[in-house]
Amino acid sequence: MVDFGLRIFASHLVAGCLGMFVLSRVQTDTAGVTLAVGVTVAASALFSWLLTVRQARFLRQGAEVIKAVGDGDYGRRLWPGSGMAMEELAQSVNAMASGIEAQITLLAAEKQRIETVLGGMREGLMVLGEDGRVILTNKALEDNFPQASGAVGRLPIEALPCPELQTAVETVLNWQDATRPAVVSIQIEPGQDRYFDVSLVRPSQQQTGQGAGLGAVLVFHDLTEFRRLDKVRRDFVANVSHELRTPLTSIKGYAETLLGEKKFREGQERRFLDVIVKNANHMSKMVEELLSLARIENDRQPPVKTRIRAGESFRAALRECATLARDRDVTVESLLPGDGPEIMADASQLTQVFRNLLENAIKYGPEGSTVTVSHRPGQADVTFCVSDMGPGVPEAERLRVFERFYRVDRPRVKGEGGTGLGLAIAKHIVERHGGRIWVEQAQDRATGAAFCFSLPEAL
Ligand code: ADP
Repeated sequence: MVDFGLRIFASHLVAGCLGMFVLSRVQTDTAGVTLAVGVTVAASALFSWLLTVRQARFLRQGAEVIKAVGDGDYGRRLWPGSGMAMEELAQSVNAMASGIEAQITLLAAEKQRIETVLGGMREGLMVLGEDGRVILTNKALEDNFPQASGAVGRLPIEALPCPELQTAVETVLNWQDATRPAVVSIQIEPGQDRYFDVSLVRPSQQQTGQGAGLGAVLVFHDLTEFRRLDKVRRDFVANVSHELRTPLTSIKGYAETLLGEKKFREGQERRFLDVIVKNANHMSKMVEELLSLARIENDRQPPVKTRIRAGESFRAALRECATLARDRDVTVESLLPGDGPEIMADASQLTQVFRNLLENAIKYGPEGSTVTVSHRPGQADVTFCVSDMGPGVPEAERLRVFERFYRVDRPRVKGEGGTGLGLAIAKHIVERHGGRIWVEQAQDRATGAAFCFSLPEAL
């Protein structure tokens, strides 16, 4: 502005000099003075007008450049006008435009990188805003669910007709604790023989910052191939087990018949036949348990749950284990009430769970020890525990013992004829009932393992 003022002053000075020059050339009468003043005023007005027009043109160009940069034309620059002030202004505007251009280039490169990562992901991705509507999907999701390609702005249920997914979305969106992220995992079957595991995460406020507008991130893992291979494996095991059943029955039958013959009752023949019968029995048990596991795994229908008294199922299981308990001189003490507790379950499957746990407790506890069966009520379920005085299960193995064929310490079970399937069967049954099974250190008198499971209480 000082610069502009100086120019106006200089133009008035020049106009004044012009007036003086005219005055020196004309007669100094009234008409001459009037002419000189007129020339001075006219020159002054002309210079001012020229200066103002230049200034206005520069400001108009500046406004245009700022607007263009605001509209996304980050390459536009302002030509510096003559004069210090205009040059400074032009430099500031150009520096601002260069800064914005650099930031935008950086953001565009970042966006491109993120898009490449999201596009290359094998997992499907859906990002929801705070209002629960889709704000982003990736290519893998759209490949798996073509209807999700136009999902932006819609609710997940409008893109994927999966009510359980929408319910899970609402659970994470209504998560009250903003300081901790909410994580939910569900499995969905969106079509014929298609399975997905979906992880839903609502980031905490610390993770996103306030006002990020991020509601939830959904990651879809395709389990279809895994499930198909698992089914092939299960079918194979079931078929082989089934095929083994008949020859095993004949081996056992013939060996037992021979054992009944007088000439084979003693000596080496007797020992050989005993080994054949013992191993045939072990294999038969394994085949039966494999078939039992295959039946439970392949049963797509949920178990038929009725209101039953758990005590009765336990007593049925105890009758089946009576011989083993007698052989090992183990006492089974029940703290379950005779008429309860009442739970919702399939009675024969519950008996099988009790039998598998009881058999183990009797087998792995020392001879002459006591096995205790107890229960404790929960909020909407009942927990049962079978505790023994055996070696217990080391903490590191407590999850693995429920895997099929997993055994903690093979020498420990030598001669016991374990198949490594009893706990896997029990786990399947309990989980299909909506319950949970685990092993912990036994409390009180029992010093070994406590195998516990919880099932829904009868309403
Ligand atoms: P198994 O036929 O070998 O008993 P299970 O599936 O019933 O098969 O058990 C798996 C493994 O878990 C067993 O081999 C044993 O190592 C361990 N286990 C099960 N029950 C007990 C228990 N009551 N005490 C100690 N270890 C146990």
